[in-house]
Amino acid sequence: MASKAIFLDRDGVLIDNSKHYYIWNADQLSLIDGIAENLKILLQKGFKLFIVSNQGGISRGKYTKKDIINLHGELISTFQLNGIEITDIIFCPHHPDIEKCLCRKPDSLMLEKLIARHKIDKASSFFIGDSQSDMEAAANAGIKGIQIVPNKNMYPFILSLIK
Ligand SMILES: [Mg+2]
Ligand SMILES: [Zn+2]
Repeated sequence: MASKAIFLDRDGVLIDNSKHYYIWNADQLSLIDGIAENLKILLQKGFKLFIVSNQGGISRGKYTKKDIINLHGELISTFQLNGIEITDIIFCPHHPDIEKCLCRKPDSLMLEKLIARHKIDKASSFFIGDSQSDMEAAANAGIKGIQIVPNKNMYPFILSLIK
């Protein structure tokens, strides 16, 4: 049976990016207020959780792919310690100034890969993001987008999903 999913943008949605534009090391790993509680509620409602992130800083040489993989390891284990399972995490390392690609949001290739790989039911799934490009990526993939206020507790925005 197909699963329902919540796709989550990373910066501004899970990790507070109000102090850093690029987030690539564990010192910068500051989770947004309420995130553990909110993700737990979504898990309890039967959603699988996925992270979908543009990391164009890799293309631009600000940090490496390995830095991001290490940071994501930290993020996943922080969530695990709080009883939260992230099913998969995907990122686009490209930046359009350096190299064109089909994965960077607002393109939908990252979402489509996850939808195929994990047999996700698009009709019952959502993308939670804090930017217009997240909402466009959701629309391009044929799923509903929920645009939240960056770096704020997302609880008011997920109420409609958890009734
Ligand atoms: Mg963001
Ligand atoms: Zn890309």
